[in-house]
Amino acid sequence: MPDIIQLLPDNIANQIAAGEVIQRPASAVKELLENAVDAGATEIKLIVNDAGKALIQVIDNGKGMSETDARMSFERHATSKIKNIDDLFHIKTMGFRGEALASIAAVSQVELKSKKAEDITGTYIEIDNSVVKKQEPVAMPQGTSIAMKNLFFNVPARRNFLKSNPSELRHIVDEFIRVAMAFPSVFFSLTSNAQEVFHLENGSMKQRIVQLLGNSYNAKLVSVQEQSDYMNIYGFVGKPETAKKTRGDQYFFVNNRFIKSAYLNHAVMGAFDEMIAKDSFPMYTLFIDLDPSQIDINVHPTKQEIKFEDEKIVYAFVKSAVKHALAQFSITPTLDFELDSSIQHLDAVSKPFTAERKSSVASSSLYNTFTQKNQAHFIENKSELKHWKDLYEPSSGESGALNPMPASPLTNAEVANREPGFVPLRAFVTTAPTALEHLTQLHHTYIMGQNEDGFMVIHQQNAHERILYERFMKAVAGKPIAIQQNLFPITIELAAMDMVILTELLPELHLLGYHLEPFGKNTFVIQGTPADVDQGNEKTAIEKMLEQFKHFSADLKYTKREKLFRSMAWQRAVKGGTALTQKEMKILVEDLFACNTPNITPNGKPVYTSFKKNELDKMFGR
Ligand code: ADP
Ligand code: MG
Repeated sequence: MPDIIQLLPDNIANQIAAGEVIQRPASAVKELLENAVDAGATEIKLIVNDAGKALIQVIDNGKGMSETDARMSFERHATSKIKNIDDLFHIKTMGFRGEALASIAAVSQVELKSKKAEDITGTYIEIDNSVVKKQEPVAMPQGTSIAMKNLFFNVPARRNFLKSNPSELRHIVDEFIRVAMAFPSVFFSLTSNAQEVFHLENGSMKQRIVQLLGNSYNAKLVSVQEQSDYMNIYGFVGKPETAKKTRGDQYFFVNNRFIKSAYLNHAVMGAFDEMIAKDSFPMYTLFIDLDPSQIDINVHPTKQEIKFEDEKIVYAFVKSAVKHALAQFSITPTLDFELDSSIQHLDAVSKPFTAERKSSVASSSLYNTFTQKNQAHFIENKSELKHWKDLYEPSSGESGALNPMPASPLTNAEVANREPGFVPLRAFVTTAPTALEHLTQLHHTYIMGQNEDGFMVIHQQNAHERILYERFMKAVAGKPIAIQQNLFPITIELAAMDMVILTELLPELHLLGYHLEPFGKNTFVIQGTPADVDQGNEKTAIEKMLEQFKHFSADLKYTKREKLFRSMAWQRAVKGGTALTQKEMKILVEDLFACNTPNITPNGKPVYTSFKKNELDKMFGR
């Protein structure tokens, strides 16, 4: 028997190793940007085509490489950043493993140009599948340019695994933001398909945050700064009013390296306690500097998680620093702790009681019930009762106690499995009544109505979410929603990340009645909105929708369309606490029971509960 063990050829070994370092275009972006930062560049330009699938290029004006170094840099474990194991504990650079360029060269076609200040000419190298194809001198300014083309061209299985362009581009933008945020003194730009998405002049940390996260944070940032022998912390947190429904704008950097830490996040949330609603997330960009020997950045291959030598100290330090900052800016004392913060945000509390609201209350059924002398007109239409003898019954068919019987919500898996355009199985649907009588609004939140068998209580917001959701489903299935053209088109300015998202959603939004057109950098013109969106509210409607979309974006299991529908349904639904007129209630109830699945919201919350008359009778010994 011959011996059977062989050494893998370099290119295959590199390809396998690359799997860990380069998972998608964004991972290559991160490595190349970090290399440019490590090279001391003051200007770094990132260019991508086709969300990095066709081209990722990083051009820097850093220290450059000699001819030999340029050639060497693509070898595995080739690094200028550590020499022995001890150095690992004093890392001041972003990279140190010497794997990135080797991995990139193993899975793409690379063109490198690099020149040191003191050299007369630079070096040009072309590498294909880890093999050097060409090397020659080149005239160029100091710095390095690395272009990688056709990522995974030689690993089709991985290429097929890549997500859609908008999705990959979002990952790229994420990585870009993380690096650009940490180095405000460096100029960065990002150009995607020949369009400049970011152009970040160097400046202060505060300026960089606003450049990256959008103008809405301008004048809304609180500076955090605390020093000790053990560690320093500095950066900014958003004022409580900027807290969002999405976790998006939260950044921790340890020694300038972006990290994810649920533990430290908890510390910041603790400092914000009581100042923001429970389900909202404050913005923060916090930099922690401490002796590199106090951390182990080696625990995660892509280096986003780190271990602290003493995490309790770090936790306490972060929390108290943020608390201190918020207190100093006297944000704490001005808040009214009597009111639960989630209640404070309700329109009913926060909006002035205008004449308009007064009249809507006056026309509400509750108000009418108390003010109208006789209520006979409510039961005028007796003949209609015939249609309704099929009173709602729980699908389980059980009718034991009088307990309110919530409509059985879909399990998460059922909701997740639903395809857009899915027509729910009738099995989920209880025999729904076609109408209800004596509609009454309770607490401006519930609609109560009587039917032959008893009565029902409907949650108005949940009901409306269901109605809108099904309307959107129908809209994409070929019944577009009417667009009302704006007489005076409104422009909306967005942060770059939101631009990416909105661009991705344009076609669907159009079907749903939003007519938006790109208008230069970071701006859209709102040409038209669905006929039922109030004039003047167009901008807020879109901002809220984006917020909510990002909220759902964390849930990868939903399709883009599903996320959009859910967020739009949530955003547009009439909220609890809103007074409804008799007519509005009637329409809501009718629309609800015209739905395919009236009993649950798109997110699986119950919409109504039914009470049976015979159970009531039993209860009272009748
Ligand atoms: P690491 O960054 O972990 O050292 P890389 O594979 O990313 O490993 O890079 C290998 C080496 O190539 C680096 O250590 C550095 O010396 C050199 N290098 C890479 N990119 C640049 C750049 N943009 N400018 C100057 N030198 C670079
Ligand atoms: Mg590197």
